[in-house]
Amino acid sequence: MKTQNLFIEPSFCEPTNNAWNVSSGAENWVDQAQLGTDLAVKQWQLTAFSSQLRSRVQSSNTPRAKQLTKITMLGCGATYGVPLAGGVWGLCDPTDPKNERTRPSVLIEHNDRSLMIDIGPDFRLQTSRVPVIPDSILITHGHWDHIAGIGELPYYMEEVLKRDLNIYADENCMALIRRMFPYLFFDKETVGSTCITGFGESKRYRIFWHRISAYEAFEANGIKILPFAQNHGGSDSLGVRIFDFVYSPDVKTFPEQSWHCLEDIDTWILDCDYWEPSESHGDPETVLKHVDQFKPKRVFLTHMDEKMDYSVLKAWFMDRRYPHILPAHDGLEIDLGSS
Ligand SMILES: [Zn+2]
Ligand SMILES: [Zn+2]
Repeated sequence: MKTQNLFIEPSFCEPTNNAWNVSSGAENWVDQAQLGTDLAVKQWQLTAFSSQLRSRVQSSNTPRAKQLTKITMLGCGATYGVPLAGGVWGLCDPTDPKNERTRPSVLIEHNDRSLMIDIGPDFRLQTSRVPVIPDSILITHGHWDHIAGIGELPYYMEEVLKRDLNIYADENCMALIRRMFPYLFFDKETVGSTCITGFGESKRYRIFWHRISAYEAFEANGIKILPFAQNHGGSDSLGVRIFDFVYSPDVKTFPEQSWHCLEDIDTWILDCDYWEPSESHGDPETVLKHVDQFKPKRVFLTHMDEKMDYSVLKAWFMDRRYPHILPAHDGLEIDLGSS
């Protein structure tokens, strides 16, 4: 099956309605995003890492003959990161920098646009390490380690991003975010948006919320996305397919309805939280089962806890003749080539 067949044209260009009873504002959010990009270029201020940030924003406005798709691993740690609070490294070698892991998140850059997946409690640190300029954010599910960074957005949008932002999440996740951060939102905003009010009603930039559902393909700033359901213990999470790349954090098994989304994978970022089997996350033996079933070309492991030492885990898969399965590490860049 070709990757493109997984998407249902022409639904890409129709962002789903806002979850909180306002219209989609489809044309509005596209215009706002473009306008915001221009403003971001003009208004960028010098900071410790601003030269990197500025060059990325400027290059994003420069047409290039051939576009590349690149994945940056912003974080590949489990719920509590590595080291744990209090400096506990568990079985991880503290002298190996690949063992220092922030909470799970990736940045996907395609055709000069970018999508960040999940915004956990290390968003502040991750955006200080890597010049992250997301056009959109997709949230896989409402667990704390995937949404806590939303609390950073009032400052980040006002002083760094300097433009509106699109966020995509399913209905359950949106409801949970709204309960967690009621002080960040108010409902009487303009059609198509709900405004973050971190600095009061003078706030200039808005979040446009887009409700998504498993198996309903959509397009976010030119990036074609197919979310699909994953079994995550007592709850579901969304896996994400973009071309022949798949991101699967927080998953134990895949429902049969999702199997077609896992065919012909080039690069798969897959949950491998613990050594021992659990109800809600992956482990090495479970990873092997998934890999044997779906036969991806290469796999990078994510959501790894403090017992998953980088070198030990890498050797475990090598010893079993799976050299194309590697632990990820924070800052890892994966070039998916031209598309
Ligand atoms: Zn998680
Ligand atoms: Zn989770």
